[in-house]
Formats: sequence, structure tokens, C-alpha cells
Amino acid sequence: MDKKKEKRALTLTRQASGFALQSLNQLLWPAACINCRENICETDNGLCNKCWNELLVCTGADYCPRCGRDASRAAQLEGLCPDCQGKEIHFDQIARAGIYAQSLQKMILDFKNGKTELDSVLGFLANSALQGSGFYNDIELFVPVPLHWSRRLARGYNQSQVLIKKLKHPTAPIRTNLVRIRRTKAQPTMTSPTARARNVAGAFAVRCGHDFTGRKICIVDDIKTTGATLNECAKTVKQAGAAKVFALVLAVAGQKM
Ligand SMILES: [Zn+2]
Ligand SMILES: [Zn+2]
Repeated sequence: MDKKKEKRALTLTRQASGFALQSLNQLLWPAACINCRENICETDNGLCNKCWNELLVCTGADYCPRCGRDASRAAQLEGLCPDCQGKEIHFDQIARAGIYAQSLQKMILDFKNGKTELDSVLGFLANSALQGSGFYNDIELFVPVPLHWSRRLARGYNQSQVLIKKLKHPTAPIRTNLVRIRRTKAQPTMTSPTARARNVAGAFAVRCGHDFTGRKICIVDDIKTTGATLNECAKTVKQAGAAKVFALVLAVAGQKM
């Protein structure tokens, strides 16, 4: 056998044993849906068909590019929906993967409660939202919404930081120079938008030596409810000199299905 044939035979043998090993693996440890544990094929991106279908129900509707709430394109007046007109919004644009309901809501809650392996699926949804937004090419830095150190210690991680690592962008790096300097009450315990805004007022600051001046920054969080947290973060980085602030969230709450 000449050298070439020998090499090809070797590759084929390796490939065959590779396939055999793969099928054996599949037989012994079949891939399971990371959401419902149903058996799936390796090619299903971690989720079974049923879970993908349920998830896609929560994504895809038209939303206001300023506040992220459901709004048909026709109802948007100069880029603002009726809901956000007259409101003081410190971020310039927003992208969202979906609405905070049903399957997406459950997945985000699981993700925050330790099921970090959902980062691949949620990262996929966040990347689609980001690439479909009008500001993808303008982003210069990604910044996660910070948790207070005591909350991060209790949870073991910051879900926004886990998510941000899954984002695909050719140039923009991640910066963690936005910090939470005050422990706030959990936002879900607050009912009114005013109470939520008051709860987070002055809760954030930027680290010395930050490079936000003149930059276009995309702030990343898991959920937007009234937008008080994102608004306060955007205000803080703009006060630090940011030229523009975009927001990316997995889900916007308070929307009807
Ligand atoms: Zn499933
Ligand atoms: Zn709006």
C-alpha cells in the first residue's frame, strides 16, 4: 500500500471507530433535552422539538425598539410606541428575545436558580435578538447589569454575566466596570413603577479607570419589567461619558400572550 492509501485507510478506520464510539455513547447516554430531559438527537441544539415550539411562541412578535413592549410597526410613532411616549428613557434602543411568559419565563427562572446549562439555548435566543436589532454593528462594549456582591455570593453567579459570555460579536469586548454599590430590595416585591425607580436610584456606579467615555455600550440583563434597573444603569454609564446606551434582554415582562 502506498503512503497516500495507507493514510486514507487510517483516517477511515479512525472515522469508523469515531462513529462507533459516538453511537455507543448515544446508546449508553442518550442526549437529553436540557429543559424537559426528553431524549433528543445530538443535532437538536440541546432542546427537544416540543420545547423549541413552546419557546418560539414567546418570541417573534413586533416590539417597540425604544422600550421593548409589544407594538405593531404601525403603532410606532417616530420609533416610539404610545406606551413610552413622554417617559424618560435613558437607553437609546432595546432588543429583546421574547416576552416573559410560559416556557421562556420558566427557562429564565431555572437559569437563575442554578440551571446554567440553559445558557446555550438562551444565548442562541439573545444572539438572534441582537443580530436582528438595528444597533448590532454600533456596539463597542458589552456590560452586564451587576448584582450586589452579597446576592452574587448567595446565587453563586450573575446570570447576566453568564449570558453575556454567550453573545457573538466580532469586535465588542465585555466590561464589568459597572458595579452595584447598594443592596436593593428585590424588584418583584415592588408594585408601582415609581417604587421600583426609587429602589434602584443611586444603586450603581462605575469603577475608576473605566473606558466608557465616548463609547457605545450595550447593557445586558435577563428581564425588563418597568425598565427601572436598565434605566438607572443607562443613566449611570451616560453620566460616566458613554455616547450611546443600548439594552439587550431575554424577556420583557407584563405582556399578554
Ligand atoms: Zn424538551
Ligand atoms: Zn415603547
